[in-house]
Amino acid sequence: MRIVLLGAPGSGKGTQAALLADELKLPHISTGELLRSAVKAGTELGKKAKVVMDRGEFVSDDIMLELIEERLMQSDAKAGFILDGYPRNLAQARALDTLLARIEQPVDEALQIDVDVEMVIARIAKRAAEEDRSDDTEEVVRKRMKIYADQTAPVIDYYAQQGLLSRVLGEGTIEEVFQRIKGVLQVRSDS
Ligand code: AMP
Repeated sequence: MRIVLLGAPGSGKGTQAALLADELKLPHISTGELLRSAVKAGTELGKKAKVVMDRGEFVSDDIMLELIEERLMQSDAKAGFILDGYPRNLAQARALDTLLARIEQPVDEALQIDVDVEMVIARIAKRAAEEDRSDDTEEVVRKRMKIYADQTAPVIDYYAQQGLLSRVLGEGTIEEVFQRIKGVLQVRSDS
């Protein structure tokens, strides 16, 4: 099964993607994590990405496509995957479709986790303190929210138009949200 998880920064999509990957025995592919690894490893890509990430802006579509293509070509992604953090704009959504069409592995399901923006800002502030992330100051978080609304929200409609979108409420405990997600996937596989 090939699943795209969508949601605002701090919506809990990373946590839910990891749980789902574990449940479905599929790789969890997080572009944020791939980028943070590149930053840590000090690669050329990592150096370029860090400046942009620290400002709360997007890394270029070209770099992202290269990164995601390389990851999706690894053998563990053949059985399916849980994508977290990609696509983040319409150009990326179209590029992903083209790539997946080429390897005959189209997206099966797009799952949007809906949350209240103020709740998200509180959650991100907590995570920033726990993980010591330099891209999580309040100013940067507000900027990421605006970029999300302008650029990533249209991706939700993109998948809705293809009949691939389901939405779940991201409020409550991690377990409650996870149960909702499993419920939605169950309905999809029964239909
Ligand atoms: P995340 O962990 O998904 O919140 O990603 C952290 C940061 O990595 C984002 O704020 C962006 O700067 C960058 N990033 C992750 N995924 C993408 C993407 N698909 N397109 C552009 N930038 C990305």
